[in-house]
Amino acid sequence: MTIQIPRGTQDILPGEVEKWQWIEETAKKICRLYQYQEIRTPIFEQTELFQRGVGDTTDIVQKEMYSFQDRGGRDLTLRPEGTASIARSFTENKMFGSPNQPVKLYYLGPMFRYERPQSGRYRQFVQFGVEALGSMDPAIDAEVIALAMELYRNLGLKRLKLVLNSLGDRESRISHRNALIQHFQPRINEFCSDCQARLEKNPLRILDCKKDRDHELMGTAPSILNFLNEESTEYFQRVQQYLASMNIEFVVDPTLVRGLDYYNHTAFEIMSEAEGFGAITTLCGGGRYNGLVKEMGGPDTPGIGFALSIERLIQALEAESVSLDNDRTIDAYIIALGEKAKDYSVSLLEDLRREGFSVERDYMDRKLKAQFKAAERLGAHYAVIIGDDELTSGVVAIKNLATGEQQEVPVKKIQEVLSN
Ligand code: ATP
Ligand code: MG
Repeated sequence: MTIQIPRGTQDILPGEVEKWQWIEETAKKICRLYQYQEIRTPIFEQTELFQRGVGDTTDIVQKEMYSFQDRGGRDLTLRPEGTASIARSFTENKMFGSPNQPVKLYYLGPMFRYERPQSGRYRQFVQFGVEALGSMDPAIDAEVIALAMELYRNLGLKRLKLVLNSLGDRESRISHRNALIQHFQPRINEFCSDCQARLEKNPLRILDCKKDRDHELMGTAPSILNFLNEESTEYFQRVQQYLASMNIEFVVDPTLVRGLDYYNHTAFEIMSEAEGFGAITTLCGGGRYNGLVKEMGGPDTPGIGFALSIERLIQALEAESVSLDNDRTIDAYIIALGEKAKDYSVSLLEDLRREGFSVERDYMDRKLKAQFKAAERLGAHYAVIIGDDELTSGVVAIKNLATGEQQEVPVKKIQEVLSN
């Protein structure tokens, strides 16, 4: 039996990978503009990092982790997300001591979650995310959101919806928490077992339950916005004011809670409103997590960030029919006729490549006509035709494949012609 690709993963083949490269390059370019620097952390970490950093009550930790023991008996997990690793690295590398504050980082790489695979949901997927650590200025919340919106905009997406909420500070959350417990307790037996466990541990997460989302108590649950204290209200208003000043449209949705623990103040999601996008419309999720670094054993440091997956971004590009103008042409294809000419083409090819030309030749012993076809398939601008006879007289023929024009060119002048 032939071996097949694991469920929930995908091969990204040539032809498709150019789209990925384009997105990745655009993300890196935008991070340069906003001054976020790349950080690369390991693909696996100690399991405890995610238990503590993502939170025991989350779906990720309870159901979705790829955890294993290595040969030394260590408990390790393939990373399901990026923020916990960054909080660890920030602490371990004492980035809080850097003169460059806030510390503004981005990451781009594969994440692993044991999920039920479906459209837009994979077991290995690539996240791009940013984190700004060390500042409590609402302007940095607005900046992080603006960066995500600008990436999508830059790639050509138009049908986006930014949804915003505030989870408040600790004090606001405690009073909201109590109200939630009172609200759900009398009828908690009508909810799933996860929600029953969440009631005491983290009732806010009930609002994020996918199974019970249509229960009537969901719609009437007390809104966090009515429990924000003065400071939290003001913080939230300033984030909104900054977004408005950047002409970034948003809607406030008090039922928006992020799936991860340790979130406070700003929470946001970016959705695609493109028709035919599919059931899962969230492209990007993020928010503020002031308690996280301290929870990881570091100094009390505020932080905000987001994560988005390239898979859902590509889905959105497809739903909006955005195509990349994908320059896959090459400068020249070398067609050698005769043994001497073939030998010569080896060094000519290398010389041209060293000078920065993209060139290809035949390695399949094709006939002349088939070589022209190959040149066409590769989108070659020129064909450089070398015959044994011409070679002795030091000339080659160069054919412009767009116009059909052909000229005799001394070997020394090949580069000059290709440059035009
Ligand atoms: P969802 O509610 O869709 O499961 P989530 O709350 O688990 O999302 P986050 O952990 O906040 O998602 O991850 C941020 C982003 O990463 C999501 O908005 C989504 O675009 C993407 N994402 C999450 N899980 C997957 C997955 N299994 N496959 C592809 N993309 C994913
Ligand atoms: Mg999820």
